[in-house]
Amino acid sequence: MNFIDLAAQQLRIKDIIDKNIAKVLRNGQYIMGPEIRELEEKLAAYVGVKHAVGCASGTDALLMALMAYGVGPGDAIFTTPFTFVATAEVISLLGATPVFVDINPVTFNIDPVNLEQAILALQMQDPSCHPLPGAIIPAAPEGAGIAVASSSNSESCALRPKGIIAVDLFGLPADYDVINAIARKHDLFVIEDAAQSFGAEYQGRKACSLADIACTSFFPAKPLGGYGDGGMLFTDDDKLVNVLRSIRVHGQGSDKYENVRIGINGRLDTLQAAILLAKFTIFPEEVKMRQAVAERYKAMLTADAPAGCTGSSASAVIPPTVPYGYKSVWAQYSILAKDERGRARLQEGLNSSGIPTAIYYPRPLHLQGAFAVLGYKQGDFPVSEEMAGRIFSLPMHPYLIADDQELICRHLKGEV
Ligand SMILES: *Cc1c(COP(=O)(O)O)cnc(C)c1O
Repeated sequence: MNFIDLAAQQLRIKDIIDKNIAKVLRNGQYIMGPEIRELEEKLAAYVGVKHAVGCASGTDALLMALMAYGVGPGDAIFTTPFTFVATAEVISLLGATPVFVDINPVTFNIDPVNLEQAILALQMQDPSCHPLPGAIIPAAPEGAGIAVASSSNSESCALRPKGIIAVDLFGLPADYDVINAIARKHDLFVIEDAAQSFGAEYQGRKACSLADIACTSFFPAKPLGGYGDGGMLFTDDDKLVNVLRSIRVHGQGSDKYENVRIGINGRLDTLQAAILLAKFTIFPEEVKMRQAVAERYKAMLTADAPAGCTGSSASAVIPPTVPYGYKSVWAQYSILAKDERGRARLQEGLNSSGIPTAIYYPRPLHLQGAFAVLGYKQGDFPVSEEMAGRIFSLPMHPYLIADDQELICRHLKGEV
């Protein structure tokens, strides 16, 4: 059994893929060929946003978004510690500081209540109401009152709240109505890390249209994946899109050899765009197939629950919940075991029957060595820490058949 079955997908569209690749080889426009603009236009229309900018990866998309806002040293960017490392990595790469905010235990996405507390804690430089990056904020000197010298000193070290990166984890959008309202109140920008959620929906709108800028990834395992690296940014902002297009090509100005800002080589390959155009022809259908697979999992995992016993399930695991008004694209189907030992037992049982599983993510970012410099500690984000110990993901792709799901669920319910 496959965790993700890209071969079944390829079989369906091999003709279009071959045709599209052959066209690129015939034209020879390997860099910024016409396929790039065609893909940008198609995907922008699909998500309902004015502009799309293809780029080299989801990581570059996040980096370019932060660069477009001029993020740098002294800037605080609020984000979740329960995500893939790239989300926070790009913040540190620019010399800015990730300020982590714990997640909601049902959606696994950033909790807006904690978010507002984190913003206030940072403004007041008071880690007693929300954990802050300790190493960054200087401790008040012993016995120091509100002395002018010490306050000016702490001011120079203080972080400026600048923006928020919310993540649509496992394909389920974060709560943007609340997040965007908090952002407006505190004059912050919002970036949607939609690397896992292209194709999802929130309150009638598509993922990638839910914040000031959205960033997605075409890594092969994502819902819309290419055959290599790739990514895309989405925004309605006419000014930002020009900045993003400039950053994508070394900060170019009106011509190739005028450089008006520091940028990167962040282009999407023409070949990847050609492949993605082929894959996009069946993508809306695949989204529906993913929903059907997820619905089957839910029905199987909750079957045999005693009548009237709401909330209890027949298996030893808790299946994911999709709140009202949300549609997940099911980048992962992630379930919760009772505890870490229970998870290990279930994974072993599945594995011994040839059923692959994976843990996203075994260690929250505030406990990763790469972010040790921020001075966070165990216990700072208890929900993320608990989920990291209990969560694991089952095989999930549009071509997963009911018989395989039946086998998986019988294992989870202890029937095999
Ligand atoms: C995959 C992923 C990224 C990075 O995308 P790449 O294309 O691999 O660079 C960023 N954020 C999240 C949440 C992801 O899952």
